Amino acid sequence: MSTDSEIFTGNFTQQEPIPEAAIEAAMAVLQHGRLHRYNTAPGELSETALLEQEFAAQTGAKYCLAVASGGYALATALRAVGVQPGDAVLTNAFTLAPVPGSIASVGAKPVFVEVTEDLTIDLDDLAAKVDQAKVLMLSHMRGHLCDMDRLMQICDAADVRVIEDCAHTMGASWNGVQSGRHGIVGCYSCQTYKHVNSGEGGLLITDDAELAARATVLSGSYMLYERHLAAPEPEVFERIKYVTPNISGRMDNLRAAILRPQLQDLDRQVARWNERYQVIEEGLRGTPGLTVVERPGSEVYVGSSIQFLLLDWSDDKVLEVVERCGRRGVELKWFGTPEPVAFTSRYDSWRYADTQRLPNSDRVLAGILDMRVPLTFSLEDCAQIARIIRSEVGSVHQAA
Ligand SMILES: *Cc1c(COP(=O)(O)O)cnc(C)c1O
Repeated sequence: MSTDSEIFTGNFTQQEPIPEAAIEAAMAVLQHGRLHRYNTAPGELSETALLEQEFAAQTGAKYCLAVASGGYALATALRAVGVQPGDAVLTNAFTLAPVPGSIASVGAKPVFVEVTEDLTIDLDDLAAKVDQAKVLMLSHMRGHLCDMDRLMQICDAADVRVIEDCAHTMGASWNGVQSGRHGIVGCYSCQTYKHVNSGEGGLLITDDAELAARATVLSGSYMLYERHLAAPEPEVFERIKYVTPNISGRMDNLRAAILRPQLQDLDRQVARWNERYQVIEEGLRGTPGLTVVERPGSEVYVGSSIQFLLLDWSDDKVLEVVERCGRRGVELKWFGTPEPVAFTSRYDSWRYADTQRLPNSDRVLAGILDMRVPLTFSLEDCAQIARIIRSEVGSVHQAA
């Protein structure tokens, strides 16, 4: 088949099956029926408590809490660091709706920071805005890590606490430090489209004892927090338990059982994602008019999705690329579209936030095309996808 006629027939939203060991562990929970994390037989350690213990060990964090979703983890982190209604919270202009949504859920106000052509938070813009807030909700959107050393310098100097949204960086690191371990708290999603899959679910890690105790009570521990295996000592809970509301959002043992074997296998999955990512990246490199997002040497990333830029193209031409690729079976998402579509939306669609002008982000967002890379794709699939994008971008670019 010539490159101008081949059509990709794979499915961009098809996950791999849940691993056998996870299915077996889930069956055991279903058979004993104790799905609630605090419903344990004498001497039994719940799957949820074990998950927390194992994820704390895996990330090197002192404390870990499992919750109902990634978005819930973000909102819990904001509450646990003490964000109050009306407070400003710095966050990325380029992210997904649950991030500003978590800020709105505590009555706080998102202050957006520009995105660079590297798809990371603009550290000069951050430095200019850092004194407007006491907290930065940093979204490692689509797995792109900024210079975390410089970011922490900027935030530490201004006494701004950093909450990391690691929905796309579970398994990633910057200069050898795992994503989620730079800020005061790291939040992860275990939702189907992220790096481990329990349908829904979230994890929160921190080294701060009071923050961990508050998050635990907030998540709905009642006074059963002593059953946690990665929580602070009971004395810490004594200090906060009367003044911390229960905002129920626990994880259950079924999801935890599904997640534990997947976390054991994370490094292998990361390597498989990156093989696929690198085949697509190589296939796209050098396409006239198309900018590959170069990954810095300090970054260990997880290529579960890939982005490229058609910078300074007209909206019509970008849309034409999306449509032409779509007709050939390649699903691209465009961050420039004025109307929110499916999972994709822009900062100016979040109209509960104060209106803000972000000219650099407008330019970059108008050029971002985004594609999922599910592990069900073979390396040959990835090569074919890259050929299709390259030929369609080429056709539209040539005609322009
Ligand atoms: C998915 C996602 C979240 C929220 O996770 P949920 O588990 O779906 O609530 C937060 N931030 C980003 C960047 C995400 O992609």
